[in-house]
Amino acid sequence: MKKRTRLTFVQCVVTAAALSCAGPTAPSTSPSTPQPPVPPPGPAACSTSGVSCFGRNNYIEYIPGDLPIVISVPHGGALTPASIPDRTLGTTTTDLNTIELSRAISTAMTNRSARAPHLVIVHLRRTKLDANRDITEAAAGNADAIQAWNEYHAFIEQAMAAVQQRSGTGVYIDLHGHGHTKQRLELGYLLSASTLDGTNTQLDAPGVAPASSLRLIAQSSPLLFSELLRGPTSLGGFLEPDVASVPSPSIPTPGNDDYFSGGYSTSRYASTIPGLQIECNFSGVRDSVNSRASFADRLVQALALFAQTHLSLKF
Ligand SMILES: [Zn+2]
Repeated sequence: MKKRTRLTFVQCVVTAAALSCAGPTAPSTSPSTPQPPVPPPGPAACSTSGVSCFGRNNYIEYIPGDLPIVISVPHGGALTPASIPDRTLGTTTTDLNTIELSRAISTAMTNRSARAPHLVIVHLRRTKLDANRDITEAAAGNADAIQAWNEYHAFIEQAMAAVQQRSGTGVYIDLHGHGHTKQRLELGYLLSASTLDGTNTQLDAPGVAPASSLRLIAQSSPLLFSELLRGPTSLGGFLEPDVASVPSPSIPTPGNDDYFSGGYSTSRYASTIPGLQIECNFSGVRDSVNSRASFADRLVQALALFAQTHLSLKF
């Protein structure tokens, strides 16, 4: 088994069109002074697995991987630069410990396969940027926040392209933390709670699968769509019995309970590779180092089974 050491920090600047890395430097913890972009040497400068690249002022971090897995983490950041005013519209709650959880998942994958997923992380607090929204709501018109939003999505696009080039397909995960009462994962496939309330026959009707973030799997799978979504070989099925999630064989629908079905990024990238939004409960999942490590091991096990079963990807 290959262990990864902590990453070498590389200062990078990315725009929607280009990316640059400019030598090792430590990430700033209080980037309040905007810096001019560094001339870009091109995307190839940010492709070394396990080596972090940063956008301007270290607001966005991209750690390229070599597994066909892309994990984005939009709501776990803590940076509050004075140059970006607080957003006044939309949700501003931090998804506590989700950055730490994403790193635990990366470690678990590396321990399993000696390969790592691609991680794209927002270090700005959600009061400054909500990267899981369209740019208007996300950045509230602030130039620095707009640049960070563009960098974040350019990094995800770069990760997606790397996955497609290397493996043809993969799995995209937009990683979040919810504050809902029910302590279970909410697996968001872009289908509403009322849709999930339907019978399997209703879920298998034409028009449902194409609207979901699993559409690319459903197009070629011999399984019924309801099986992909909440059968024994669904992600929720592979997480049973020790990780509760919805939808899953034992909890097929959220019913009237709170439930996140997936947001901007899941919608945007589901046409590139299959994926989902994973909303993690706090207790036993992201509340401590030990919780994150044990949950990460279990999630990675389930993801590997899911990817092997439905995408013929092994890791
Ligand atoms: Zn979130």
